[in-house]
Amino acid sequence: MTSPSLKNAPSLDAYWMPFTANRQFKAAPRLLASAEGMHYTASDGHRVLDGTAGLWCVNAGHGRRAIAQAVEQQLLTLDFAPSFQMGHPAAFAFAEALAAVAPGGPEAGLDRVFFTGSGSESVDTALKIALAYQRAIGQGTRTRLIGRERGYHGVGFGGISVGGLVNNRRVFTQLPGVDHLRHTHDLARNSFVKGQPEHGADLAEDLERLVALHGAETIAACIVEPVAGSTGVLVPPKGYLERLREICTRHGILLIFDEVITGFGRLGAPFATDYFGVVPDLVTTAKGLTNGTVPMGAVFASRGIHDALMHGPESAIELFHGYTYSGHPLACAAGLATLGIYAEEGLLTRGAGLAEDWASAVHDLRGHRHVIDIRTIGLVAGIELQPRPDAPGARAYEVFVDCFERGLLTRVTGDIIALSPPLIVEPEHIAEMTRILAEAIDRVA
Ligand code: PLP
Repeated sequence: MTSPSLKNAPSLDAYWMPFTANRQFKAAPRLLASAEGMHYTASDGHRVLDGTAGLWCVNAGHGRRAIAQAVEQQLLTLDFAPSFQMGHPAAFAFAEALAAVAPGGPEAGLDRVFFTGSGSESVDTALKIALAYQRAIGQGTRTRLIGRERGYHGVGFGGISVGGLVNNRRVFTQLPGVDHLRHTHDLARNSFVKGQPEHGADLAEDLERLVALHGAETIAACIVEPVAGSTGVLVPPKGYLERLREICTRHGILLIFDEVITGFGRLGAPFATDYFGVVPDLVTTAKGLTNGTVPMGAVFASRGIHDALMHGPESAIELFHGYTYSGHPLACAAGLATLGIYAEEGLLTRGAGLAEDWASAVHDLRGHRHVIDIRTIGLVAGIELQPRPDAPGARAYEVFVDCFERGLLTRVTGDIIALSPPLIVEPEHIAEMTRILAEAIDRVA
């Protein structure tokens, strides 16, 4: 099987594609050849407006020269340095720069940074830090982890265990001692809401229920996405995150925000932590950290957590955890250049000025056939379609393919279409996105 549209087309057989219907894809491949600004160019030459910032990660838009130059320079200066018991300046510089823009600002004190290679690794790292911290402070019975239904925390065993998407879990063994809060999606009470829905803060009380069931002294941490992205954009009800924070604090449970999607400006604030004004103990990030250019993740830890682990003999390794590619020089160079662009162009808060127009443009899709809900916050939108009774997911998939062919990249989960454009998006791009999407929805059976 080869791609008909590529010169010297490679065979498509060897590459086992992730989270892809491989046989369906290879029968009718969609290949991207290049990217610049807000657009991809597909291998057949047609331009595709990027409605998803790649995979929620290209926040500053594509083809940024400053990042390319920084990576090239770093590659020619120091291509790799061992990450264990050795260091290099770019890793310290990037951690320091991140600490300066850390979630919640200086008062939050989330200014200790552990580097990983991806969002999944950030999640597993945060869960392990939480367990290590509890033990370090004499709370070693706290080994239980709490996630939430419909949560997506990547694909490591920690992440799928606290995650709540059944297809990512059913085939695989889970970590023991994990339980889940109920999800907050409530179409009956909260449909077609701009921003945070009114109903559902009480769902945070689920954590009290789990404390009553298991005992607080068994629970190390609770992890949630402040805005659940991959499951189809679920915005937290008003007051929900605040209550979760209170309950965690009351019971000595660490609160982890998975900001792999919401981090770096997606909501119109630097982090969801800033947007909602709720400060967790650990924050996981990746994606926008390097504008998606070089794989990397980072966990922000509170100083209290970090310092609690800096005990024992100075010659002892404090945390038996890390990756060959933690703080990789190229990723750090890319990340530093990315932060520079975010600062120069005000991208971490740019979404705030566009959010209202974004919401009204997307909510104009209300009334189109099959649309049963629309959710928006910052520069994110979820458009939920009525599933076909005999083929759940098929309708949204067909919309996705139609959009791509007509020049718009969207992302689909089940029958929910998600939009999350690069933060450099302009009003005319928003108009084009919603036009192509409306036409595709109208065409689908
Ligand atoms: N956590 C969240 C909230 C995510 O959205 C994702 C990816 O979409 C991940 C973790 C996993 O990130 P990665 O695919 O880089 O491992």
